[in-house]
Amino acid sequence: MVARLIAARERVRGHAHRTPVMTSLTLDERTGARTAFKCESLQRMGAFKFRGAYNTIAQIPEAVRARGVVAFSSGNHAQAVALVAQEFGIPAVIVMPSWAPQSKLDATRGYGAEIVFYDQVGEDRDGLAERLSRERGLTLVPPFNHPEIVAGAATAADELFEEVGDLDLLLVPLGGGGLLSGSALAARVRCPSCRVIGVEPEAGDDGARSFRSGRLERIETPETIADGARTQSLGPVTFELIRRYVADIVTVPDAELIRAMAFAIERMKLMVEPTGVLALAALMSGRVEANGQRVGVMISGGNADVAQIARWLAGLADDRQLR
Ligand SMILES: *Cc1c(COP(=O)(O)O)cnc(C)c1O
Repeated sequence: MVARLIAARERVRGHAHRTPVMTSLTLDERTGARTAFKCESLQRMGAFKFRGAYNTIAQIPEAVRARGVVAFSSGNHAQAVALVAQEFGIPAVIVMPSWAPQSKLDATRGYGAEIVFYDQVGEDRDGLAERLSRERGLTLVPPFNHPEIVAGAATAADELFEEVGDLDLLLVPLGGGGLLSGSALAARVRCPSCRVIGVEPEAGDDGARSFRSGRLERIETPETIADGARTQSLGPVTFELIRRYVADIVTVPDAELIRAMAFAIERMKLMVEPTGVLALAALMSGRVEANGQRVGVMISGGNADVAQIARWLAGLADDRQLR
């Protein structure tokens, strides 16, 4: 896996943005930590997922790749695969539920992908993606459970360590585990003493449970506003790396995500999505003790409907007035 990370570093260079690292004195004063934010919300298509998609699609043999790629996702992975396919000039088919938010459908179509709704053809998602792959010769690009997706995702934390040097702690949002296992791999290479901690939404704590029980636990439909972390379980590839290299997994409730979004937007002028601030919320809410430590915070994405964000923040403003 280390060799894969080193190769991915070269491969994504010049294609993925090298996203900025930001600091916040206000947060440092509140927590007693010295924080560095890796802003993948400013990555191409608005989330770190571009990195894994690029790293994976770039390695498909050219003659096979030319036939196109297929992915199932209602979120950022769809947009990442669509954008990378556009860059390679190949077709992309994205399998989505018909209830996917209009903004995500528009963004995915905007990158030139064809959208197929699985709930309108009476087939399950995986079955449909497999059939499309077989019939049209499309290569399936999985969202997280693949070594090259992990290696691509790892390049974000790799850049963070390269830029800020050693960290005591690195906090990372967790869904299916591609970003967390990749970040832990990067820490292993750049700063083995750094403790890497995954942060999940409270209602989707399958990762934390799996971490404790030692076997893959599932949650059928995680009810959380962190839509990028509504995955039902980790995958065998990501779970194995997480078990080996991750120090702990903690959870935060949705209310803390809204508070963290407000902080990122008001104080840091960063447009973020709920899943993107999981790590920040863990720090702000004191779920992770960080006093006196150098802490890396992965801000994983910034794609959200602005009207929805306004509603969440308005609810928070009402709470503040009541207090
Ligand atoms: C997909 C996603 C995650 C979770 O990543 P995994 O690799 O599935 O753990 C976190 N944040 C954002 C913004 C995402 O799009």
